[in-house]
Formats: sequence, C-alpha cells, structure tokens
Amino acid sequence: MENILSKFKMQGYRITTIRLNIMSIFYLNKGIYSADEILGLLKKESINANKTTIYRELDFLLNNKFLVEVNIGRLKNSKSKLYEYNDEYFHHHHLICSKCSKVQHIKINEEYLDKEKNRIEHISDFKITNKFIEFSGVCLECQNKLNN
Ligand SMILES: [Zn+2]
Ligand SMILES: [Zn+2]
Repeated sequence: MENILSKFKMQGYRITTIRLNIMSIFYLNKGIYSADEILGLLKKESINANKTTIYRELDFLLNNKFLVEVNIGRLKNSKSKLYEYNDEYFHHHHLICSKCSKVQHIKINEEYLDKEKNRIEHISDFKITNKFIEFSGVCLECQNKLNN
C-alpha cells in the first residue's frame, strides 16, 4: 500500500478516503471487480459512496494506470467493465474457469510472447499495443466436482 500512497503523492493526486479504499480493495485482494462489486465491498466496510463517485474514481484510477481494464468475455456474465490492480512488476495473464468464473493469474514467457507479437505484427500489418492472453477451462476445484 505504501508504494501506492507515494505514487499518488508523487504525481500530485489527492488521497481521498474513497480513493484509498478502492485502491486497497484491488491491491490487497488482487481481485477483478466491476463498479457494482466495489460498491458492495465498500458498503460492507460501512463506507458510503454513490455509484457516480465510484465510476468517477474508477475512471480516474484507470486513466492514471493504477488499474487496468480486464477484458474477460464471459466472466461473471458481466457486461460491465472489469478492473484489476495494475501491477507493473507482475505482468500476467489469466486462466478463467468456465464453470465458476474463478480467475487465476499466470506468468508467460514474455520473451517468447514478444517474438510471437512481432511475427503477428509482421504478417497482419497490425500494430499491437497490449498483450493479454486468456485461457479458459476448468479449475481444479470444478474438475474434482465433475469427477465425483
Ligand atoms: Zn471452477
Ligand atoms: Zn490478473
């Protein structure tokens, strides 16, 4: 949390209670949440905020790269935007369970991925600006349920 606080300060951003609380939810849980879920989690901690404030804060945190948007197709059957903590020291990808929607974070050989990126750019004339890979499948827990 310290590094987030100092990042806020260094960049001259105000540290409001709501801003701090939202960031600590993302940082401590390493989870993926929508605006509604954040609202629910804040309420649980008896922190009052309205939806407009939450959306404004999430936009702010996204634009300033404290959070990243996660594009997970069918996750949580959600049509709303999903966010997670932008960990610059842990560039990672996602394993998504299609039964329970649980998400696991995994590292991929980035050197290999970069080579693939270059190759893809070369054959498609497409300029790639982001590389996030999603694998879908069945998590261990759900595999065990299926086997029982
Ligand atoms: Zn599962
Ligand atoms: Zn992630």
